[in-house]
Amino acid sequence: MYLNTNSSYTKERVIKRLVEEGILKSPHVIRAMIKVPREQFVLQEYKKYAWVDTPLPTFKGQTISAIHMVAWMNELLDLKVGHKVLEIGTGSGYHAATIAEIVAPEDVSDDLKGHVYTIEIIKELVELAKQNLSRLNYSTRITIIHSDGSLGYPEAAPYDRILVTAAAPQIPPPLLSQLKIGGKMVIPLGTWSFYQELTLVEKKSENDFKIKSVGGCVFVPLKGEYGFKN
Ligand code: SAH
Repeated sequence: MYLNTNSSYTKERVIKRLVEEGILKSPHVIRAMIKVPREQFVLQEYKKYAWVDTPLPTFKGQTISAIHMVAWMNELLDLKVGHKVLEIGTGSGYHAATIAEIVAPEDVSDDLKGHVYTIEIIKELVELAKQNLSRLNYSTRITIIHSDGSLGYPEAAPYDRILVTAAAPQIPPPLLSQLKIGGKMVIPLGTWSFYQELTLVEKKSENDFKIKSVGGCVFVPLKGEYGFKN
């Protein structure tokens, strides 16, 4: 494969291709994907591949998601300025930053800004994300929590949107209860470690959920109470 490692050139090409393929559609999502510097979230040794549309290693066998996956999930989430969002699986902090650019853009006054809460179970990744997000001025718009995200984060619930960026064997019940009525969740569901169904959940009322598979995907496994046990 030919790789042009000039990051601004390949960034434009990736975004253009995702628009042509119909994965990226909404102007605010496109703007966020252009704004957030993925090269600042990948490890030093992978910087030249930052705008190659593939997952890249972070620490402890974990990855930063592929660009099209972040774009696709952000489109499915139907994010709006002011939303309170919960992410399970902070990793590098990249995906959280793209969401902050949509729900809490810099050019909106503070009282209208939304907020991103993001949970990570591995301490080294919490530290990595904290460094990345504070260096890039996201600290006031994103709160990083070191805990088991399969239990959600009741302290700031309910959420307008929830995304799970690790593969889950089931929808963790705490996440269903921490979603607002009218809220949406995107979660990869599957029993195999190498294939899941990306699933869109809409909370119609306290006990009524519309659940729809939207396509195949591959994520690292969710751990914790409602994750994979091994
Ligand atoms: N969104 C990330 C990539 C996620 S990779 C990014 O933009 O870089 C999946 C992450 O989920 C891994 O970092 C993994 O450690 C984390 N994870 C797995 N199980 C978890 C759990 N129960 N709670 C919180 N984080 C979890």
